[in-house]
Amino acid sequence: MKTEDINSFFEKVEKSSNIVLFVHQNPDGDAIGAALTLGNLLNKLNKNVDIVSPNKFPTFLSWMIGSENIIVFSEQADVVKFKMENADMLVALDFNAFTRVGNSLGEILANSQVYKVIFDHHLEPDKGFDLYFSKIKSSSTSEIMYEVISKSNYFHLFDNEMAENIYVGIMTDTGSFSYSCNNVSTYNAVADLMRFNIDGEAIHRKVYDTYSENRMRLLGLCLSERLVVLPEYSASYIHLSKSDLSKYGYQTGDSEGVVNYGLSIQKINFTALFTERENKIRISFRSKGLFDVNKFARTHFNGGGHRNASGADSFDSLEETVEKFENLLKLYKYDLNF
Ligand code: 5GP
Ligand code: MN
Repeated sequence: MKTEDINSFFEKVEKSSNIVLFVHQNPDGDAIGAALTLGNLLNKLNKNVDIVSPNKFPTFLSWMIGSENIIVFSEQADVVKFKMENADMLVALDFNAFTRVGNSLGEILANSQVYKVIFDHHLEPDKGFDLYFSKIKSSSTSEIMYEVISKSNYFHLFDNEMAENIYVGIMTDTGSFSYSCNNVSTYNAVADLMRFNIDGEAIHRKVYDTYSENRMRLLGLCLSERLVVLPEYSASYIHLSKSDLSKYGYQTGDSEGVVNYGLSIQKINFTALFTERENKIRISFRSKGLFDVNKFARTHFNGGGHRNASGADSFDSLEETVEKFENLLKLYKYDLNF
């Protein structure tokens, strides 16, 4: 992160009164963690700060202090538009494409003439921002946020609550330190956070040990009935229909993490989760090693993400989407057997 960029960010902050922060649709611990941290810091600098989420976020993050003030665009579009019109700065957190906040909000954000900053760790961020804190090698946007704040003149304002939020972001985006974290900087950042007296073990429990009975049983269904393993392609996938979800009283976030189980099988290098939503099929892809699921999602499903974790939407039926996926596997057979 360039010192001159950090300085120009805070110079612009100093001149601003109203700042609006944006997280991506279905925000995760990283997006919310980074947003709450920056929000706290800006509050301490006496700025009017609003955090906007395109839609409701999972209840397993609702314990995070300040999350109750997040404005949900799908519920309060007019409020968000008003705030954006009166803002001096707009900040995008944890997404690389305007469409990741939904088409309607994405268009407003892309066309806004207000000074725009992005903090993100995804490949190929959209053009149109005035200042980029984009680092693909970083475990998470939260780690980038920590780096920027710790190298700024405002690090003395960093506190225990911000350290907790950053920890949530790094922990959730690395699958509890199991991927995207083979680097010294992530562990150095975490060591620093520990100095702010955070309880990493308690945070882990608050995020992960909060399943409802329904959510746990839905996971049971996924593993026993909806998992398909294709050893000839070193691949697997899980498919969930609308009726599966309604049978288990699906709540936002209930399928979070389910996709990873498909990769926990020996010799499986590529997995997908297909979830039937109201008017689309939501897809998550995960891979091991060099198989690039960002490229796979972009090329075949108009999605994207990182090399080992990506996502996309399909507007075909669940059956057609799964069939397309199975057919595509044939093309990648030799890339997948490693
Ligand atoms: P998830 O499977 O957890 O929803 O997404 C995995 C990763 O892929 C996330 O880091 C997310 O940013 C990215 N991603 C998910 N869906 C999309 C999409 O539709 N388009 C793009 N460009 N990236 C996505
Ligand atoms: Mn992230």
